[in-house]
Amino acid sequence: MTGRQLITGTQNTWCPGCGNFSIQHTLKNVLAEMEQEGKSLDDVVLVSGIGCHAKIADYLNINSFYSLHGRTIPVATGIKLANPKLTVICCSGDGDSYAEGLDHLIFAAKRNIDITVLIHNNRVYGLTTGQYTPTSPLGFKGKSTPAGTAEYPFNPIELMLASGATYVARGYTKKMDLLKKLVLEGIAHKGFAFIDMLQICATFFPVADYYTSRVYELPDHDRTDFESACIKAREWDYNSDARIALGTFFERSLPCFDDKMAQHEINPADRIRAIQEFLLTRT
Ligand code: SF4
Repeated sequence: MTGRQLITGTQNTWCPGCGNFSIQHTLKNVLAEMEQEGKSLDDVVLVSGIGCHAKIADYLNINSFYSLHGRTIPVATGIKLANPKLTVICCSGDGDSYAEGLDHLIFAAKRNIDITVLIHNNRVYGLTTGQYTPTSPLGFKGKSTPAGTAEYPFNPIELMLASGATYVARGYTKKMDLLKKLVLEGIAHKGFAFIDMLQICATFFPVADYYTSRVYELPDHDRTDFESACIKAREWDYNSDARIALGTFFERSLPCFDDKMAQHEINPADRIRAIQEFLLTRT
């Protein structure tokens, strides 16, 4: 299929000014570029979770799976293992993969499965009208914390580096050219690619001025240097007023989980025989 209309006609219910629009258009531009370069979009699958971000599965005209809360990554993992030739892109939220689905995120990074995870990190539960998430700043006042949160946020860049992710980057929805470059890089990366996308929630956490005055693009640095990536990752802890680095923190090449699993493939008859033998030893 070529030249398809990538934005669907589904009624869009995101709030005016929502950063999800920038992500949707970034992905549209990424997909169009991939198609121009000869990639069949029939071989691309988008998986979303639950939250405002997840509606992107309805708004982009591409194979998609609208999954359960926090379960974006296991669904994407299953799709990739079932058909390794597919390019699998996960759109997930901070309330999705940094909270209920955090264990899946960590283990996908540890396994180095060849999927691309894009986190719409608006640092608030927008769909449920403004509760704090794992990346909300200390003192965040929302529906569940009117007096302010008593918890520090965690730093997802540092967490992904520690978990073994082989591509780690941060983008910002008001820097769309850079965001597109990062998403293209993440998809081209062979292995687990993670991009934390600072996304504006226009209704419950409108911090565009805060980000815009602090972000800068990482100057040329050795992206294979893990220690330097950690130092850069710690520069802004998602709470302080430090400058916020955007770009690729780290990249390295390692064997992928899906390739290793493909080598272990056994034929269905042998699998059934092995299961029967296992069950017989238990009776
Ligand atoms: Fe976007 Fe926030 Fe509105 Fe959700 S609540 S659609 S994240 S602006």
